[in-house]
Order: sequence, then structure tokens, then C-alpha cells
Amino acid sequence: MKKILVTGGAGFIGSHLCERLLNEGNEVICVDNFFTGSKENIIHLLENKYFELIRHDITHHLLLEIDQIYNLACPASPVHYQYNPIKTIKTSVLGVTNMLGLAKRVKATILQASTSEVYGDPKEHPQKETYWGNVNPIGIRSCYDEGKRVAETLMMDYHRQNNVDIKIVRIFNTYGPKMAENDGRVVSNFIVQALKGEDITVYGDGSQTRSFCYVSDLIDGFIRMMNSKDFIGPVNLGNPVETPIIEFAERIIKLTGSKSKIIHMPLPQDDPTQRKPDITLATEKLGWKPEVKLEDGLMKTIEYFDEKLGTCICEKY
Ligand code: NAD
Ligand code: UDP
Repeated sequence: MKKILVTGGAGFIGSHLCERLLNEGNEVICVDNFFTGSKENIIHLLENKYFELIRHDITHHLLLEIDQIYNLACPASPVHYQYNPIKTIKTSVLGVTNMLGLAKRVKATILQASTSEVYGDPKEHPQKETYWGNVNPIGIRSCYDEGKRVAETLMMDYHRQNNVDIKIVRIFNTYGPKMAENDGRVVSNFIVQALKGEDITVYGDGSQTRSFCYVSDLIDGFIRMMNSKDFIGPVNLGNPVETPIIEFAERIIKLTGSKSKIIHMPLPQDDPTQRKPDITLATEKLGWKPEVKLEDGLMKTIEYFDEKLGTCICEKY
């Protein structure tokens, strides 16, 4: 039985990870400051005697004895990470430094949740891990993008200088049940709007693309990466099926049978025009590729929001 720390464990991805690690027979310590996470995501785990919840902010020191750290603490939605940008970058710089210090002291392996945002508005397409990116250092997304880039630098320097056992995964847009309904990301926005019969808000002309990975596939990649030998990454984890946002909106309308109309709103500053992972490295090194088809993952996510909102659209199927 391993003792595993999951920071950001009450968030969307973190709560799925805590559940999976417990199911695999580990002891899990979930640390969260509840900025974007919620108790609801982990309430069903609280009775498990191998699960422990600590309300803590990773920008402050933390002393624990653990074997592994999955460092996920950081708001992920542009609306949330831009709410308090100074706090966002502190979470990636001070928070990651604290977690690396902890990993160094107890000789734990640490996996950092990095992001496709390190590629910025990419000029190389699809994105390989060797691409250095095209990031605006002074824009409204920089607190997140540059924060995550510094986090990767800190990981590499603790590895080279102090021999800390590290793993870096670059996560591409991930979706699934337990996303916060108000977090402003495209998947939750479009599904909630469609279920409520509200207008679907496409930013810009909707020609910008994203590639969506279902959460269970991502978690599988995390665990393979954490337990891999002689491979520190960075490695892309994402689903290479690329969709223009306008087509994504049409698909959500079709899947929900909604009468919602598509409206266009201004494109946010520095919104990347295209994003698609090259996952050759993940397949070679981890034997990983996503299994869940977009349509199937979206139906599971729609059912989740339908039940949560009490819109009862899925009862019609
Ligand atoms: P989320 O916002 O649902 O979860 C983040 C969690 O971290 C929340 O529970 C929040 O309360 C907690 N948190 C934030 N700042 C903290 C701090 N200073 N101390 C302690 N806890 C803190 O987001 P998510 O989608 O689950 O993302 C998890 C991680 O994966 C993040 O690091 C994010 O950058 C990364 N990521 C996610 C995606 C995606 O598509 N979901 C894509 C790329 C990277
Ligand atoms: N988007 C949109 N309507 C929304 C929310 C987002 O058109 O209501 C677009 C956004 O401009 C971006 C894409 O969808 O081009 C993905 O946005 P999200 O915030 O989910 O994540 P990002 O990949 O930009 O971090």
C-alpha cells in the first residue's frame, strides 16, 4: 500500500484520481484550498478509512510522509485563473517549490500537472513535446501559461540539482463528470447552456480548434506515467481528435436534442487558434492512447449535468 498525496484533489481531475488510487488499494491524502474544488466531488470518499482530507493552500509549507505526489493544485479554467492572477502564478511557483521541497525531503516521486498551454498559440501543429511554444509573457493568460512553464523549469532543476524523482505530464483539454458547472470552460458551458435551453456562446467565429480527452483516459495516463521507469517526460496526454469549436457547439445541440441557438461573442485575448497533441511519445513510452470516443464521453458528461441541474433531458432517451 502506497501513501499518495493528491494536491487539488477536490477539483475535477483530482477527485477522479483520488477515487481511482483508493480503488487500487492505496492510502490517499487529498490537499485542497477549495478555491475551485468542492466537497461534493469527494464526499463519497470521506468514509473510506484510507482517505484523508486536508484543507491547505500549497503556497504554504506542508509536512507529510508520503511515497508519491500528484501535484494538480491550480485553477484550470481561464475565468478562474484570471480571477486572481497573482495567486495563480504563486500557486505554480511557490506551490510547486513547496511540493518539490517535500518530495526532496521524503524522497517521493512527484508528478506535475502541466498543460498544453505551455505551447501558447502554437505555430507547430500538432504539438510535439520538443516544441518550445509561442507564449505571450505579459498577457491575461500569462499567469497560468508562464506559471506552468516555470513549474516545469523548477521540476527539471530539482531533478538535475537534487536528484528529485520527477514526472511531467502536459495535459490537453480534458472533460467529464464533476467539472464545475460555472467554471466557464467550453465543455461545461455548452452542455449547461444546451440543457437549460439558453443560447450557446461561441467565442469568435468558432474556427479555433481544441482536442478533448475524457477524464478516465487521462487518469490512466497519469498512473502509467507515475509508475514508469527511467522516463521523466514531459509527455503530452490528450486525445488527438481535433474539433473546431463551432462544430463542437453543433454536436452538443444534437446530442442533447436542445432547441438552443448558437450566438457569437468576442474572442478572448490570446485565445489559441489551434491545439492538437502529438501522442507518439506517450504511446511509445507508456503504451497509452485514449480509448473513450468523444460522443460516448460527452453523453456521460451530459447525463451528469442533466442529473445535477434536474433538467431531465436524458430521461427522454
Ligand atoms: P480544477 O479547478 O477543477 O481543480 C484544481 C483544484 O486545485 C481545485 O480543487 C482547487 O480548489 C485546487 N487549488 C487551486 N489552487 C490551490 C492552492 N493554492 N492550494 C491548494 N489547492 C488549490 O481543475 P482541473 O481541471 O481538475 O485541473 C487540475 C490540474 O490539471 C490543474 O493543475 C490544471 O492546470 C491541470 N490541467 C487541466 C486541464 C483540463 O483540461 N482540465 C488541462 C491542462 C492542465
Ligand atoms: N469557448 C467558447 N465559448 C465558451 C467557452 C469557451 O467559444 O462559452 C472557446 C474558447 O474561446 C476557446 C475554447 O472554447 O477557444 C476552449 O476554451 P476553454 O476555456 O474550455 O479552454 P482553453 O483551451 O481555452 O484553456
